[in-house]
Amino acid sequence: MAKVIIIGAGGVGGVVAHKCAQVPEVFEEIVLASRTESKCQAIASQIDREIRTAQIDADDVPALSQFLEKEKPDLVINVALPYQDLSIMDACLNAGVHYLDTANYEPPETAKFEYSWQWAYQDRFKEKGLMALLGSGFDPGVTNVFTAWLAKHDFDEIHELDIIDANAGNHGMPFATNFNPEINIREVTAPCRHFENGEWVESPALSTSQSFDFPEGIGPMNIYRMYHEELESLTKNIPGLRSARFWMTFSENYLKHLEVLQNVGMTRIDPVEYEGQSIIPLQFLKAVLPDPASLGPKTKGRTCIGCIAEGVKDGKRKKVYVYNICNHEDCYAEVKSQAISYTTGVPAMIGAKMMMTGNWSGQGVFNMEQLDPDPFMDALNQYGLPWTRVELPV
Ligand code: NDP
Repeated sequence: MAKVIIIGAGGVGGVVAHKCAQVPEVFEEIVLASRTESKCQAIASQIDREIRTAQIDADDVPALSQFLEKEKPDLVINVALPYQDLSIMDACLNAGVHYLDTANYEPPETAKFEYSWQWAYQDRFKEKGLMALLGSGFDPGVTNVFTAWLAKHDFDEIHELDIIDANAGNHGMPFATNFNPEINIREVTAPCRHFENGEWVESPALSTSQSFDFPEGIGPMNIYRMYHEELESLTKNIPGLRSARFWMTFSENYLKHLEVLQNVGMTRIDPVEYEGQSIIPLQFLKAVLPDPASLGPKTKGRTCIGCIAEGVKDGKRKKVYVYNICNHEDCYAEVKSQAISYTTGVPAMIGAKMMMTGNWSGQGVFNMEQLDPDPFMDALNQYGLPWTRVELPV
């Protein structure tokens, strides 16, 4: 039925390839392309179906446009890095191909991510009759769908939103990140921004924390407030939303290492001269840290990511929590990956399925909460990320 090209053969790309291969009635032809073709081949060799592979530098718009014109896919699933978003969107426009990603654009030289760059493509995608679906991972992605689903079924208006992301798993390494280290560290060390009474408030990175009692036996963990990209689109697209915050758990060990790395300058993203060469300390750090894709067999425990919304229904105040719990070892048994890549790759496949089956359609650039959440929520249950809804006391 559809031909997809997946760009990026990291932890997430591997999961997307596995999950698309599990749905042959939709994804008839799958090509996995990335900067290092051997990584594509290693993933393809784990999968029973034919996955073609290719070498491509997604920063090279003319070469990527030519590649897409030759291959003629229906959709590009971009799971390379946020730096490639705009060049892949440009190539999709040139070749007349729909687009999907899981993280918003970030310029390499500034640790600043926001949707403005990608929202600026609205008219160009509309004019070409193409759809671009932004942020179809877990957070952003499923968290946007959870919020849209709560707004549709549980509330007349949501006033407060807390998105809470726990990794209660352990990989046993002194320090490792669960997705691309460079992107992860840039995100975590950025100043925190949250939305309060209709305004953005900035505070130092990780300066606010509290304990949260996670469900289903996970128990209490410290959560830290930080900025996350879905806050930007949700505060724009969910009417009535007055306050919105994003929280994430970090182990003491992770925070201790991060503090030292920051203090010694290893998280800097400006070039440093070293023995006649210009190097970026954070990129060098990435080269010596464990590859997130290698954490799969080592990681045990669970993740719990969800949204708590508070607002009004029929004149009464109400509070509802929707969450997913995912087990690292189960993910590894199914697709040879830990749960962070799994919880990102499965929604990328589901978003692609929504677009290819016409459940979600449109012309222009869309965030997840702008589309009907119901078929996506059903698909989460069907494809490995079941969710639970609990009503909480106000
Ligand atoms: P990895 O670093 O493991 O993989 C990235 C892949 O992209 C690598 O295979 C890399 O190639 C490839 N790549 C990088 N630059 C280029 C380029 N110029 N051309 C072609 N390929 C390129 O990252 P992850 O798999 O952990 O993350 C993938 C994406 O998913 C990121 O954008 C990340 O921010 C996002 N993400 C989203 C989440 C969500 O919930 N929404 C959660 C987690 C991640 P090479 O092997 O040569 O380096």
